[in-house]
Amino acid sequence: MTKLWTSQTADWPLTATLDMDLEEFERDKARRSAFLNEVQVPILRLLGFVLLAGLTLLHKVFITGPFLWKEFLFFQAIIFGYVAFSWLALFLFYRKVTIISLGLVFLVLDLLFYTLVIYYSGGEKSWLFFVYLARIADQANTTFKRVLFFTHLSAGLYILMLVYLSWIERRPIFWPAELSKAALIYFSSLYIASTSRTAERLRARTQAAMQMSKDLIRQLREKSVQLEEEKIKAEAATQAKGEFLANMSHEIRTPMNGILGLTELALATELNEEQRELLGLAKKSADALLVIINDILDYSKIEAGKVDLDALPFNVADVIGDSVKTLAQAAHSKKLEFALDLDPALPAQMVGDAARLRQVILNLVGNAIKFTETGEVVLSATLQDQDDRGAYVHFAVRDTGIGIPPQKQEKIFQVFEQADSSTTRQYGGTGLGLAISTRLVHLMGGKLSVESTPGQGSTFHFTVYLGAAPSLPMPAEQLRGLRVLIVDDNTTNLRILEAIAKRWKMETCTAGSGVAALEMLRQAGEARPFQLILLDEQMPGMDGFNVIERARSQPETAEVTIMMLSSADQSSSAKRCRELGVEQYLVKPVRESELQEAVRKALGGEKKTTPRTGAVETAPAGNRMNILVAEDNPINQRLAVSMLQKMGHTVMIAGSGKEALDMQERHAVELIFMDVQMPEMDGLEATRRIRAHEEKSGTHIPIIAMTAHAMSGDRERCIAAGMDDYVAKPISAKMLASAMDRVVELTLSVKASMAKRSN
Ligand code: ADP
Repeated sequence: MTKLWTSQTADWPLTATLDMDLEEFERDKARRSAFLNEVQVPILRLLGFVLLAGLTLLHKVFITGPFLWKEFLFFQAIIFGYVAFSWLALFLFYRKVTIISLGLVFLVLDLLFYTLVIYYSGGEKSWLFFVYLARIADQANTTFKRVLFFTHLSAGLYILMLVYLSWIERRPIFWPAELSKAALIYFSSLYIASTSRTAERLRARTQAAMQMSKDLIRQLREKSVQLEEEKIKAEAATQAKGEFLANMSHEIRTPMNGILGLTELALATELNEEQRELLGLAKKSADALLVIINDILDYSKIEAGKVDLDALPFNVADVIGDSVKTLAQAAHSKKLEFALDLDPALPAQMVGDAARLRQVILNLVGNAIKFTETGEVVLSATLQDQDDRGAYVHFAVRDTGIGIPPQKQEKIFQVFEQADSSTTRQYGGTGLGLAISTRLVHLMGGKLSVESTPGQGSTFHFTVYLGAAPSLPMPAEQLRGLRVLIVDDNTTNLRILEAIAKRWKMETCTAGSGVAALEMLRQAGEARPFQLILLDEQMPGMDGFNVIERARSQPETAEVTIMMLSSADQSSSAKRCRELGVEQYLVKPVRESELQEAVRKALGGEKKTTPRTGAVETAPAGNRMNILVAEDNPINQRLAVSMLQKMGHTVMIAGSGKEALDMQERHAVELIFMDVQMPEMDGLEATRRIRAHEEKSGTHIPIIAMTAHAMSGDRERCIAAGMDDYVAKPISAKMLASAMDRVVELTLSVKASMAKRSN
């Protein structure tokens, strides 16, 4: 049997139960009826008349007599001639004759032949008048009307036979007895007819139910076709949305690039105060607009299923540390204690999408800082479950902020939902962050949830599954067994630092205040001196500097290595540290790898007391390069040129891919920034040609893509065309510089390995 409908929604559960075809059902019914009339009824008719022939014979011999073979055979010839004729007629014409049912015609004719049998077997003396009841009985399961018709017909035919015998053959008929027989036939038939009523009612009910289910199936089929059409339409709409977004992102990001870059350039020129303020405000608005555009784009990309997660190895602690560091300044400016609590059991290296994980953490920690006025924000990561293939890592972001009312706790995960819309004015935001994070966490195999008490704070939780990666070597032997004193008034920070130090197999002691620290230093004395002190700067009562001054004044601790951890990046503190002979000055929260590096340097005697800044440095004379920028938009051209020139590089411009090809051949270009979309010849094609040419010459020029497209697959397309790296517009000097660092390093290592091979 064929399916009811061929829907593409193969997983729709109803298709399994409605596995039938209405037309097929009707066709099947007609086939069964034809088989009954063409084959089954004629066979039964034949059997019936054979039986009747036997009965007639017995009747003639034993009851009525005289039995004459010739006469008997003559009658049977007539009867079986009729049987053969009816079979042939039904077989040939049953399906063709439609004005009348041939089956019914022969059922009626049967009665005539029954009458003939009764007549032959003795007429009014025959006991075979009961044969009529056989027809009534076999029709009992049809309709009441039909049985009634056969009842009248049977009684009528019997009476007709009696009339014929009496009038034509002039036989003496004892009418009271004969009419009683006719009445017997009639009333017995009526009784059977009445029983057929119940059957008929039941059948009617079944038919009504059948009809109802047929109607339902028909309606379902129509609905499914409709749904299928709507699904196709929706899919087309989603695709159109995706394409629209790709184009929109390009169109909006290109001018945004110009606005942001040019404002930055203008801000770097000489301006009066009012101009500076106005331009500063313009830049702030442009930055905010870019955040919103990126959020909308990101959310739509995820919704359109265009986000593919990377599966690359990364250092978990560093990614977490990096992301919180971005926000540390915001927390410090609000005087919030900002801590990172990493499970010592976390594998150092894992496989996953570091950028997307960072995005979720940034959103949650960003919110925590935004909605907290006093107290602390703690990000913790714990190893939950581990097997050979990977591990579940549980993240929690806890704050002591305004909290979220219970009735809003579910809603905030939806698009554009904010717990309290009046806070928008106070705190800003679009209400997209959590919606994006929820989906990203889902893609990473977890679920984002919140626990919160209004007025006391919130904790956002999520768990992600990260793949296993070859583990990194543990810190050098140099740190093993080292005696370290960790001093911090914040117990969370204290716990984190202690966990890290324990991971490195150091011997740890902790102190919650400056006074306690000095006491511990005194107790340790010369017998078991500490080799390293990790000291918090801001502490109530006695701050870090006081502790250092006192420690330095004692002979047993005068030379101890001290590292200062500060919540605020202040140049005055850094200067004071230098004066006091503090080996390293770090801004919290500190990444594990960074702390390790600093500890090693501090113990090795290397002084680095100024914290790193994000400023883009001018390239040293030896690193200055001849750079070709291929870009068709004049504003973006100017932007890239001035950023690169400020870094000390020499810059040439090409307005199309074709021009870039020409210039690269004629000049000694050392690196190319290549826009992807350009007239005449796009950046991908130009790169392909350059790479094809290089196959022969054996050289490799670093090419970095610049594109306003931010859809998934863009990066892959650039790399596939032969580009070495990729920056998304709007570009910044910092982005250009770090992309250049990456590709130059890569090119050097490629060159080195090529040189090694040729040796
Ligand atoms: P946005 O922060 O841009 O408004 P989000 O989707 O990130 O958008 O957050 C949605 C809403 O959830 C916020 O507007 C705020 O009302 C609530 N919220 C999120 N995080 C916190 C938090 N840590 N404390 C209090 N409220 C929060």
